[in-house]
Amino acid sequence: MKAVAGTVTPRRPPPASDGAEDALSTLRIAGSHPILQGFPQGAIIAFDFDLRYLCAGGLGLADVGLSREMLEGHTVEEVFPPEVADQITPMYRSALTGKSSQIDVPYEGRVYTQRLGPLVDSTGTIVAAMGFTQDVTAARQFERELAEERRRLRDAEAIGRVGSWELDLRDQSVNWSAGIFDLYGLNQDAFRGDYGAALECIHPDDRAQVNAGVEACATRGTPLRTRYRINRFDDGQLRWIDTRGEAQYEGGQRVRLVGAISDVTDHVLAEVKARDDQAFQQAVIDASPDIIFVYDVGTRSTTWSNRSQLAILGYSEAPGSESVSIDSLIPEEERAQFDAALTATADAEPGLVVQVNHRLRAADGTHRWFSRRIAAFRRDNTGKVTELVGVLRDITEAVTAEQQLRHSALHDNLTGLPNRALLMDRLDGAIARVDRTKREICVLFCDLDGFKRVNDTAGHAAGDQVITEISRRLLSVVRDGDTVARMGGDEFVVIIEPWNRNGDDGVATPEQDHAAATRIADRVREAVRRPVAVNGIEHVVSVSIGVAFGPHVPFGPGRVSRGDQLLQDADAAMYRAKGRGKDRFEIFHDGMRTDGAERTRVERILRQALRPAARPPCSEGGESRPRLSADFQPIFSSATGALVGFEALARLKDAYGNSIAPDVFIGIAEECGIVGSIDVFMLDLACCQLAAWRAESEEMADVVMSVNVSALHVQHAALAGDIHLALEKYRLAPGDLVLELTETALLDAANSTIATLRRLHEEGIGIAIDDFGTGYASLRYLATLPISALKIDKSFTAGLPNDETCRKIVSAVAGLAADLDLSCVVEGVETAEQRKALPEGVQLQGYLTGRPQPPEVIDLNLWFT
Ligand code: C2E
Ligand code: CA
Ligand code: CA
Repeated sequence: MKAVAGTVTPRRPPPASDGAEDALSTLRIAGSHPILQGFPQGAIIAFDFDLRYLCAGGLGLADVGLSREMLEGHTVEEVFPPEVADQITPMYRSALTGKSSQIDVPYEGRVYTQRLGPLVDSTGTIVAAMGFTQDVTAARQFERELAEERRRLRDAEAIGRVGSWELDLRDQSVNWSAGIFDLYGLNQDAFRGDYGAALECIHPDDRAQVNAGVEACATRGTPLRTRYRINRFDDGQLRWIDTRGEAQYEGGQRVRLVGAISDVTDHVLAEVKARDDQAFQQAVIDASPDIIFVYDVGTRSTTWSNRSQLAILGYSEAPGSESVSIDSLIPEEERAQFDAALTATADAEPGLVVQVNHRLRAADGTHRWFSRRIAAFRRDNTGKVTELVGVLRDITEAVTAEQQLRHSALHDNLTGLPNRALLMDRLDGAIARVDRTKREICVLFCDLDGFKRVNDTAGHAAGDQVITEISRRLLSVVRDGDTVARMGGDEFVVIIEPWNRNGDDGVATPEQDHAAATRIADRVREAVRRPVAVNGIEHVVSVSIGVAFGPHVPFGPGRVSRGDQLLQDADAAMYRAKGRGKDRFEIFHDGMRTDGAERTRVERILRQALRPAARPPCSEGGESRPRLSADFQPIFSSATGALVGFEALARLKDAYGNSIAPDVFIGIAEECGIVGSIDVFMLDLACCQLAAWRAESEEMADVVMSVNVSALHVQHAALAGDIHLALEKYRLAPGDLVLELTETALLDAANSTIATLRRLHEEGIGIAIDDFGTGYASLRYLATLPISALKIDKSFTAGLPNDETCRKIVSAVAGLAADLDLSCVVEGVETAEQRKALPEGVQLQGYLTGRPQPPEVIDLNLWFT
């Protein structure tokens, strides 16, 4: 008899046949068979088509509170509660149709598994069904826990990106946990499960190294520790894997290796990035021209820096030299500021950066500029700053550039001298200083003569060298504290402060100032006149200097500052010096004070007046155009009261008949170089007039005519020719003419000029020194000049009779003239008192005895009776 699950024909069985009875009795016996007693949770049952239990056996019955008696002869519905009966009924029926099945049935808090199948007789007819039941509560519980465990492991592996493996050394089979498959992105089914397949998953470049590790572990038991790369199977991503493993032994033999892997890609990438970052930071620090340092507040020393602070200052890097405090290289005067910055940083809020600029003394003794930016770096646990971090930058070049910029804004590029802007500044400063005293600043306006010629013939480079050399010389003739500035081109201005002029604090008299200015101007002229050699060629230039003392009250329209006024005055005086022959100096006086527009107007009027067409035959005119004419002032002998001469004085009227003062137009004529033409014009007029008067009156035979000759004209080569021409033209003798020259014109005259004058003098032409006493000529020198008369300046006459000095000077000059056998004319005699105070033997000229008048109103008969 066998219980066979097979293809059977289900049919309603007949009442139990004998064969069936046999089977059942066998079952019954089997249920109480000792083998089932050793299988404690088991039970055997059989039932018929009515689902009535035919037999039951096995110790397991008792466990669930059943017994053979309770089952046998009873139907399922009778034995079990409906919920159990309902569950097992379909399976029982199914078994009766010939199907085998297994079902877990929960019952009374436990789980039973029941296997059911048909019971067939020898003819293959289903006669009943039988079942085997077993309590699987514990097994099912175990299975559940195992599954749970697996899930947890899998989760843990997935989260930890780890997996475990096992390599059986005997057959090379490989077992992987799910974690490895996840990490590799590999389907479990696709893995062949041997060592070769496992190795193939590794990056080709890393295989040999992994294999070596595995072999060492397998053959020598060396723990396996290695890192390799894989390309994930699913997305091809490159990942870094660490693996560790060790051998396991059985009976002293290594039988397998077990190990774990973990995905360390993130770690590796982070490491690479950290290394990159660090390399970057290092590169930045290395490339930085700055010094980055950490400074210990407690010890006041640098504890770290990217490079040696001392080295960049040129100090040798002897060991331990870094411990020399860099602070000691800060100049004393900047130390306090530096210390304050350190303190400020140590007290500062976090994040605050303090900057301080200071110098450091370099090894070569120079000082270099540094900017130091410092911030709090580390603090102790009380919050007190213990270390500072800072950046030290060499800013010498920037500072120098800035200083140069500032310097070049105020200095002339070529010579390095102060420019106009700085000059004005200095001038204002000097004015402010002298305002507190009663003294005056002296300004020399210097303009080179003949410099254009250097530029034109030798080129601008040579011109620049000449300018540079002259600027050096100018500096050498002034004292410290005086200013030499370049105004551009060939113009220089020198400011002499009073204490550099007269040496003491006393107030200088005009004479002292004049003498001092003369000394300085002479030094300047001599310095400039020395030849300047450029490329082997010697260039000679001279200088015209205008001197002004001030400050004055500003003058004229649109009043300028006092500094500007002083400069303008010196400039006007310089023009006068140019006009009077160059290579000389003139001291400013109010007569020079004409503004630019007036100067141009007067110059235009003068030029028109000098045009040949404008010349009236002798006197007379009346046309409405600018006109130059002569007034004549008589000169008398004080002893006899006889008329001895006339002085011709130039007069200028504009087209409307307005007079322009001689001091003004003569000055302008000197500046623009046409004073010589005036002199020639006047010479002609004067000779013409004398000839006319001679024709008119016999008494005029011994009366001479004086004409003024400007310094510039004296130097002119044509002077002698002009004189001879005029004398011949009007048939006059040399003795009829007197030339009036100023003292300075004579003093400045070149040897050739003196020679010309001497010749004229020898011919019999009179030569008078005009304005005598104002030019500081030495008497000794005067004695050597070819002169015939002295004209005492009217400023001395003005002091007569009360001013003792004037009286002494007038009588001394008169005495001197007598001694030297010269005539002496006292100018500007206005009063009878002055006349009475005159020394004996002099001639006099002045408003008292006759004003300068046009010839047409002069009545000679008044003087000849
Ligand atoms: P100067 O040669 O010293 O001429 C004498 C000046 O004194 C004249 O001034 C005359 O008018 C003035 N004067 C005469 N008597 C008296 C007096 O009693 N009291 C006062 N206060 N003044 C008196 P003026 O005519 O204004 O000429 C000024 C200067 O112009 C001259 O000074 C002379 O240096 C220059 N000048 C005049 N004509 C000529 C000329 O034809 N050629 C040149 N180169 N210079 C000339
Ligand atoms: Ca004169
Ligand atoms: Ca005079």
